[in-house]
Formats: sequence, C-alpha cells, structure tokens
Amino acid sequence: MKVHAVSTGTVAVHERQREGRGPGPLRPVNTLLDRRWTDPLPIHVWAIEHPEGLIVVDTGETARVAEPGYLPRWHPYFRLGVREWVEEGEEAGPALRRLGLDPADVRWVVMTHLHTDHAGGLAHFPESEILVSRDELKAASGAMGKLRGFLPHRWPEWFQPREVVFGERAFGPFPRSISLTEAGDVHLVATPGHTPGHLSVVVEEDDVALFFAGDVSYTEELMLRGAVDGVAPDAAAAAQSLGRVRELARTRPTVYLPTHDPAAGERLADRVVVSAA
Ligand SMILES: [Zn+2]
Repeated sequence: MKVHAVSTGTVAVHERQREGRGPGPLRPVNTLLDRRWTDPLPIHVWAIEHPEGLIVVDTGETARVAEPGYLPRWHPYFRLGVREWVEEGEEAGPALRRLGLDPADVRWVVMTHLHTDHAGGLAHFPESEILVSRDELKAASGAMGKLRGFLPHRWPEWFQPREVVFGERAFGPFPRSISLTEAGDVHLVATPGHTPGHLSVVVEEDDVALFFAGDVSYTEELMLRGAVDGVAPDAAAAAQSLGRVRELARTRPTVYLPTHDPAAGERLADRVVVSAA
C-alpha cells in the first residue's frame, strides 16, 4: 500500500506542551508560562492509497491562520501558546495534488481530533466522507468548544461528519475500536487524553501496524517514556492511551506516526518499527 506523509506548514509550541509538568490544573498554566519554544514542527497529513479508496488522516492547517483575527486572540492558548507558519501551497489540497492525488477522490477523511492544526484543511474535502468521534464532536462544538480551544466557527458550512461511536470491539490492547474497511485492515481506535474524543488510525500492512497517532504524543520517544503532554485535559486517560500504544508495539511490529514528529516521515518511508517498547 502506498502511504504518503505531507506536512501542511509548521507549528511551534512551548516545550512543556510536548511534555507537561505539574499536577492536574497547573499543567496548562505551566505550559503557557514556559519560555522555551520548540523548533518549528511538521503538521503531518497522511494519505493512504487503500484498494477500497483513498484515505486521508487529518487535514492539516490553513494559510488563513496568518489573517488577523482568524485565531481568537481572546483565548490564552492562541495568544501565548502557539505559532504557525503555513503557505497556501502547503495546504492539504495542493499538497495532495503535488503527489498526483486529487482531493475529490478521497473517500474517507479520518480526523484524529478537531484542533485547528488538524481541522484547518477541511475545506479541501467537500466530496469526502469525514469521520470524527462523537465524543470529540461534542467536546469541540459550540461555546464550550471554543473555550476548550477548538474553532467550530471555522468549520466549513457543509461540515456534517459521520460520527464514530465506539462499541466494545477491541483491537489488541485498545478496548474500543471500529473497522473502517471491508477488508478489516484499517481500524479506528479510541485514544482519549489529548482531547476527550481523540482517536488513532491503525493500518495493517502484512504483519506491520502503521499507527497514525495524531497527538497521542508529539514524538516516539515521549510515547516510550509515557510522558503526557502539557495540554491534555485528562492526563490519566492520556497516560493510559500511551501505555496501550506501547503494549501494541510490544506485541506486533508497529510504525508509530505522530502528527508533529519531525522523524515520522522517514520512519514511514523506511517502515521503521518501534523498538524497546
Ligand atoms: Zn492537538
């Protein structure tokens, strides 16, 4: 299966967002007060050329973030916590076209979660079936969604995703999952923590699992250490999700692919599996 990594521009956050510090409610405060910034990190979008149709995981960010007022300045996170650089040509639509893929041919767009750097490119996919977990959609919608740092007022007018409701079907160490394809080789697994309805996508390719992790962690190394990020509203759930990824990596060869990991593109290209989980 051909799988592509493209980055729709870059994002920098505080170091303590990648690895949080302090107890519960203090973690996001510590994150915002941190003076250290990460280098500009990729904002990966993944395109999977599956026999049943083209699958895209997340949509990246939009160049509109540079417009004054696009990101809500009243929100402390957007004022203090994040910097983004996106050119129009880097958005998901043009990026896919450069690979010879037509966004109109995308059958499924699977959203790991609805933060703006993952949902900013939704406008490129009006023809596709978009999947979001029901818990995520609920958390991200309305005034409460805005307070939580989502931008529901920026979603396209036509945005009406298929809601993913997880039953009790397990996939390996993940107790809640659904299968996306008829072939049963693409799984959406619930990985809550970073956001309430965060999910990850697992593609089984022979005996290797390609694990599209969204923001379960920012790098592979942080996942291996079980380090919870500094913005997760539920640190315990985040730690549990990280533990389940490690458990999966122990039981089968797993290529771990977080959205903002600068090394993820290369690991995908060479199918470098997690070691020492
Ligand atoms: Zn996120």
